[in-house]
Amino acid sequence: MIKIDGSEGEGGGQVLRTSASLSLVTGQPFRIENIRGKREKQGLMRQHVTSLEAACAISESECDGLAVGSSEITFRPGSVKSGNYRFAVGTAGSTNLVLQTILPALVFTDGPSHIILEGGTHNLMAPPFDFIERAFLPIINRMGPTISAKLIRHGFYPQGGGRIEIDINPAPLQRIECLDRGKLCSTSGTAYFAGLPYEIASREVKAASKILGWEDGAIGVRQLPEDQGPGNILILEAAFENVSEVVSGFGKLGLKAERLAKTAANRMKGYLASKAFAGPYLADQLLLPFALSGGGAFTTVKPSQHSLTSADIVEKFTGRKSSFDQQENGEFLVQIG
Ligand code: AMP
Repeated sequence: MIKIDGSEGEGGGQVLRTSASLSLVTGQPFRIENIRGKREKQGLMRQHVTSLEAACAISESECDGLAVGSSEITFRPGSVKSGNYRFAVGTAGSTNLVLQTILPALVFTDGPSHIILEGGTHNLMAPPFDFIERAFLPIINRMGPTISAKLIRHGFYPQGGGRIEIDINPAPLQRIECLDRGKLCSTSGTAYFAGLPYEIASREVKAASKILGWEDGAIGVRQLPEDQGPGNILILEAAFENVSEVVSGFGKLGLKAERLAKTAANRMKGYLASKAFAGPYLADQLLLPFALSGGGAFTTVKPSQHSLTSADIVEKFTGRKSSFDQQENGEFLVQIG
């Protein structure tokens, strides 16, 4: 039984989700205590419960202590089966994080799966759907499987009600190297808004365009149906030959449109100024699939606490160590052994 202290490192939901994903693939049971021990509101929240319920449902695994608020669980993995599954978070919690929990296991099955997920699709502190579709999945697909994702309906906090659908044609993950992002092909962006004034989105476009200096019209505005709101997100995208970076600014009550746009645009500017393959979020999300593929390497910006924590959990389950070495040009070379 692998023992995990959920307050170590980043101390958030990622520790739990990464452990569950790795447990399903490696067949090793685990016990985690102090779940989300570094978060203000500790213990399992609805979206974490859904992630674990989904993990159990695809594999007949057993999970003791599975309830909202719980701070310890014991997970005994069963055998994973492909198929048609539907999971509803029940709140605005992130569907994309539920997907990332079960995806590695389904990729190692021998049949296709169709997954419907309902809840939040564009959540603060989680990958928005656009990131999953255009930054994360293309790299996983390069490793062997064919995974496509469709956004059926946006779901914003606090209302939720979003829906995504994913088709997985599995294949064992092949080891790859992602050192060079290639040439910049295009830059674009969209300010989405629902049930809020148009001027919020147009102010975001103006502020982001000014900082990035992208050509007129590169960042557009898209109004979503009123009943999908209130909600607002600014998505900025840079497509390189070998990878896309998708940066987001999440609208929330009290956060000025200009400020949101400035933070997102400066993040994109930082990524563009580097030569790194993976941005900070993609980096922490690639460690697990790379380890399961047998290793590999990628370049990235300064490793986040999420990356260092993911590397620790991955090592506990797979024995594979990750090294983070700063190169002369400032980028970091991540090698998963
Ligand atoms: P945790 O905070 O432990 O629940 O983990 C959050 C996960 O969401 C990490 O894997 C982050 O990389 C990912 N994440 C958070 N914000 C973003 C974002 N804006 N874009 C992409 N991924 C994100």
